[in-house]
Amino acid sequence: MRPRIAVIGSGPAGLCFARVLHRHGHPVTVLERDAARDARPPGGTLDLHEGLGQVALEKAGVLAEFRALSRPEGQAMRILGVDGTVLRDWRPRPDDRANPEIDRGQLRDLLLGPVDVQWGRAVTEVVPRGPDGVRVHCADGRQETYDLVIGADGAWSRVRPAVSSVTPEYTGVTLVETSLDDVDACHPDLARLVGDGSVAVYGVNRAIVAQRNSGGHVKVYAQFRVEEEWHAGPGRPAGPDRGASLDGAAAEAVRASLLAQFDGWAAPVLDLLRRGEAFVHRPLHALPVSHTWPHVRGVTLLGDAAHLMPPLGVGANLAMLEGAELAEAVAAVTGPEALDEAVRAFEERMWERGGRWASMTRAGLERLVGPDPSEAIALFDEVQPS
Ligand SMILES: Cc1cc2nc3c(=O)[nH]c(=O)nc-3n(C[C@H](O)[C@H](O)[C@H](O)COP(=O)(O)OP(=O)(O)OC[C@H]3O[C@@H](n4cnc5c(N)ncnc54)[C@H](O)[C@@H]3O)c2cc1C
Repeated sequence: MRPRIAVIGSGPAGLCFARVLHRHGHPVTVLERDAARDARPPGGTLDLHEGLGQVALEKAGVLAEFRALSRPEGQAMRILGVDGTVLRDWRPRPDDRANPEIDRGQLRDLLLGPVDVQWGRAVTEVVPRGPDGVRVHCADGRQETYDLVIGADGAWSRVRPAVSSVTPEYTGVTLVETSLDDVDACHPDLARLVGDGSVAVYGVNRAIVAQRNSGGHVKVYAQFRVEEEWHAGPGRPAGPDRGASLDGAAAEAVRASLLAQFDGWAAPVLDLLRRGEAFVHRPLHALPVSHTWPHVRGVTLLGDAAHLMPPLGVGANLAMLEGAELAEAVAAVTGPEALDEAVRAFEERMWERGGRWASMTRAGLERLVGPDPSEAIALFDEVQPS
């Protein structure tokens, strides 16, 4: 009999897992907390790397569609000094397919394809019960039993407590996101500043990064070292949760506070904040660099649930590759013992690779939002192809 498999979460990890398993003809249940596919804005753009996310897309059978949709020109990167001087201006060759950008919503739709997601199914608890399988409890009061439960439910995973008591810790860096719409028509000066890809400005313990998404949408990220509860500080409205979008008077209070923080920076750079629309508060958390757990039969984690790390362009890539690899490993075996062995072997590989990237991204965050802005340029020079 085929094992009953559930994946919790339909982010990049969960969808890659489900799509690859589906491709191998294996049924899988996908439980997703969001009420519907478009229940919330899907977020900004992701660059998918040739050796990571693109490998997952190939395993899912959608690499050609990705190539048609993605934006190779989005790899362009410009770095300015706080006075607006251009310090670096890197553009990809027309045939460069190393890290093309794709909007998260487009990626989600690409991966969803034939996958049947159960929307509005928030998991509250996962209880391993030895030979009786794994019990999944949902907020709607339903309980279901599976042979294998995959926790792909992100940073604040409800599956993780079944295998590990570790929780994410604040990195010391907060990111406040704002955005501009129809930038080419409404803000042509800022469209030129951002270019086809990203513009970044690094100061002492702070940075502003703006990234072009498709359809003339630009996301702007102000990043700075500050206490975790910054959003509730003087002059700003108390109470909004992380991830909540602020508009109206609350947004104006955040805007004023950000403009004071970045006072003295070049006017065009500050215009990204002056003209941004709603603001979203995202304190950056991470799991310990080498997060592992004693293997628990019937439950495992993928992506941010397993190794949340600072957002330096790898989290979704790793999450996707892991999802695809685990699905292939699961599809290749028959019988409960072989399934358990396949999951155990997968975890070893994931921990080793995830640990390496977690260590690099933690060190990267220290350099990008740190006391010496020249470190950010040095890091760019180290990783950027010439
Ligand atoms: C500003 C920013 C920029 C980034 N840029 C990049 C980039 O360019 N490249 C890159 O590779 N990575 C990037 N990342 C990191 C990337 O977003 C994450 O690593 C990636 O989304 C992790 O995928 P995931 O599937 O593990 O989790 P998530 O994307 O968090 O998906 C988890 C899913 O689980 C669902 N869920 C949560 N709880 C429950 C529950 N209890 N029950 C059911 N469902 C639940 C959620 O609704 C969600 O759909 C960035 C991150 C940030 C914050």
